[in-house]
Amino acid sequence: MTEEKKPLRKKIHATEQMNKIMSDYFYALDKAATTGSQKVAWCTSVGPVELLRAMGFAVYFPENHGAMLGATRMSNDMIPTANAIGYSPDICSYLTSDIGAYLKGITPLSKAYPGIKSVPKPDILVYNTNQCRDVQDWFAWYSRKLSVPCIGVTSPKNMHEVSDAHIDDVTSQIEALIPTLESIAGQKLDMLRLREIVSLSRQCTEVWSEVLATSTTSPAPMSFFDSTILMGPAVVLRGTVEAVDFYRVLLAEMKERIAAGVGAVENESLRLFWEGLPVWGRLRQHSELFAGLNANIVASTYGSSWVFPDLDENDPIRSMAKAYTNLYIVRSDSYKELHLKKFLAEFRVDGIIFHDSKTCPHNANTHYGIPQRLESETGIPALALSGDVTDLRCISDEQTKTNIEAFIEQLEEEKLYVRRPVRA
Ligand code: SF4
Repeated sequence: MTEEKKPLRKKIHATEQMNKIMSDYFYALDKAATTGSQKVAWCTSVGPVELLRAMGFAVYFPENHGAMLGATRMSNDMIPTANAIGYSPDICSYLTSDIGAYLKGITPLSKAYPGIKSVPKPDILVYNTNQCRDVQDWFAWYSRKLSVPCIGVTSPKNMHEVSDAHIDDVTSQIEALIPTLESIAGQKLDMLRLREIVSLSRQCTEVWSEVLATSTTSPAPMSFFDSTILMGPAVVLRGTVEAVDFYRVLLAEMKERIAAGVGAVENESLRLFWEGLPVWGRLRQHSELFAGLNANIVASTYGSSWVFPDLDENDPIRSMAKAYTNLYIVRSDSYKELHLKKFLAEFRVDGIIFHDSKTCPHNANTHYGIPQRLESETGIPALALSGDVTDLRCISDEQTKTNIEAFIEQLEEEKLYVRRPVRA
């Protein structure tokens, strides 16, 4: 059995800047909601946020709140409250955690940001089902509860290629949101402002993508676990100058690490890939487990979920439709396999971890043979871990540890860290 080592935690200095802009963001949201100084829109994480910002809305993302409930390990106390009103334990645990927390009058925002008493009350709820139907049901609950309008986009699914017909459809649906948004915002859509915000979103994407790409080097300066925290501004602040500035600072720090030969994990000997959602309530535990085994998770599908190169200020609405339809999560399995093979080659990956998140089948790619096909075509071993994004009742910590240790031992014994060519 591989001997465990006490892993060294390396501070990323740019995190301080991130904490500041996230704090400013939440206090500004709270002020907007409590004083009425600005209308508040709730938006799904890959919803049309640029449109909302261009109309002057302060934008809040309930999925981010779900992740906070998971990371603070509050979810398990919240989920049963949502189950009691008819929301199954088998559906999205972000949804059940968040609705349960609302019903109990609890939010982790209060502890993180003293003075904030609750999530910001919305004036409108805007979803895109590109990732799953759960977000629509989630927002529909708040719409009934708070008597607020709920509008959105119903996206196509399981495409191998994204066609013009798909983009035409989503473009029309985004355009159809505008009259309702204008009536709530009390102002007309300013196309110049929309172009600026789309441009800022794309810049955010470009720099975040460059940050992620720094981990193609060995040792990788950043880990998947770092990226789950550092992606926060790309989720809740894309379309703002603050997000772009933060990622430029982070990129410079990662380049400094590369120049100095500093890796996120001491003595990186195995490079792994994480497919699927993180286990928010076990980030530190999992990070230390892999680091103690000299294994770094150098890339993930999750970290790349907020990379939208299709955004184009010259064609803002159609490019938003393209960016938010051209996502990994909505593509066919054959597309996903090609995409994963490119990742494995680019990051010179020795092994791949698939997280089978129990309450999110949309983000769990273990059910229809992808790990087995990928392993047989690339020779790169795969491990499927049972778990959940926030519901810790779905996780056996002992089993997870045993499975990871055995997997790492297998990789080491087979000398898989002697890179083998990957057919992309
Ligand atoms: S993609 Fe999964 S985790 Fe995210 S909102 Fe949908 S069901 Fe929940």
